[in-house]
Order: sequence, then C-alpha cells, then structure tokens
Amino acid sequence: MSSKPIAVAIDGPVGAGKSSIARTAAQRLGFIYCDTGALYRSVGLYCSRNGVDLKNTDEIAAQLNNIKLEIRLEGGVQHVFLNGEDVSEEIRLPEISMAASAVSAVPAVRAALLDIQRDTAANSSAIMDGRDIGTVVLPDADVKIFLTAKPEIRAKRRFDELIAKGKDVKFDDVLRELNERDYADTHRETAPLKQAEDAVLADTSELDFEQSVELVCGIIRDKTKDVL
Ligand code: C5P
Repeated sequence: MSSKPIAVAIDGPVGAGKSSIARTAAQRLGFIYCDTGALYRSVGLYCSRNGVDLKNTDEIAAQLNNIKLEIRLEGGVQHVFLNGEDVSEEIRLPEISMAASAVSAVPAVRAALLDIQRDTAANSSAIMDGRDIGTVVLPDADVKIFLTAKPEIRAKRRFDELIAKGKDVKFDDVLRELNERDYADTHRETAPLKQAEDAVLADTSELDFEQSVELVCGIIRDKTKDVL
C-alpha cells in the first residue's frame, strides 16, 4: 500500500446500496469506511428530539451550537456520537431519514459538517459515501463513483430490508419516500446530489450484492493501480 492515503468518493441516490457496498469494499481493500449520511441523520435526530421546526432554516442553523458530533471506528465499524451519546442505531429509524434530508438543505449545517468529513479521510485510505463527496467534500478524490439503480429496484431493496427488520411498511410508501428524498436532495441549492464530471457511473440495477461490491472494487483497483 502506498504511503499517501487514497480517497474514494461514492455518491448516489437513496437506497443505491452505497453503505453496504462501500463498507464491504472498504473491508476487502483495507480502507476505512465513512458513512456521511450518519452525520446529517444525527443533526436530524437532534432537531426532531428537540421539537425544532424542520421548515425553519434559521431555527435549524441555531441548533448547531448545541450539537457536537464525533465519528469513532470501533472494530472497523463506524459509530457516530451526538453530544457523547452513541446514536448509530437510532439514526436509522425511517422517520429520521426525512429529518436528515430537511437539515441537509441548510447551508450552515453542510458547512459545519465539512471538517469532520475531511478529517476522517485525511490520514487513512478511505471510502466515503454520501451525496456531495466527489463534488464538494473531497473534490480531489483519487476515485469517484456515482452508484445508482432504477428507483423501483432501490425501493424494493429498502422495503425488503425494513421487512426483515420487522417493520410494518408498505412498498408504495417506501417508493414515495425515496422519490421525495431524491427530489429534495437533487433540487436543493447547496451541494445538490449530482454526478461529478469525473465520476464513473455504476448502475447496480441488474447486479446482486456480491457483483456490486466487485464492480466497485474493480473500479477502485483500476483507478489506483499505480499506487495500490
Ligand atoms: O445516506 P443517507 O440516506 O443515510 O442520508 C440521509 C440524508 O442525509 C440524505 O437524504 C441527504 O439528504 C443527506 N445527505 C447529504 N449529503 C451527504 C450525505 C447525506 O445531504 N453527503
């Protein structure tokens, strides 16, 4: 492995499998994995716990003084701490997804989370996933991948995941929420979700999990063959 850390940016819409694919690819390549959505989810969790009006940009921005976030890697697994409390499980609740999307449109929130994301990738080779990693957070990343799949396929995967966790959900609701979140993420003014010009497009619609991981690992190996 080279001494200079390698940065891999993976962006894409809801339910493209970014987290699970990126986590597994990172394990195979010996990189750390950083899920940046967890940070936005933690801000969303704080706001929803404290009854903040999610339509009020100023009220959301004012909460930033009360929020301290920390990313810790425990046994290679990312944990996120909100004011010292490990909220890694709670932020996964479906109701926190929309709160995360709402707070993520606030420029002050995005600015406040930049350093923690960049610091995470500063010293170790890392795969970082999110919406604006290749465009804003790590614009000089060695590898950029835009990971996507057809909306119905992404919704089906998300639906199956929630059912497996024992959640009482309807497919149509999952698809609607996914489309709403994608619309909000691609249409916000600050750092909208979009494919970076130099990103490789990876569509996993026809691939299973293992094939998707190999596709991503293959792109990373290919783009870094001179340094890995
Ligand atoms: O990836 P995940 O679904 O956990 O992200 C939750 C929300 O956080 C997204 O819908 C998006 O609004 C926001 N997000 C973002 N930029 C990132 C990561 C997540 O705006 N880099």
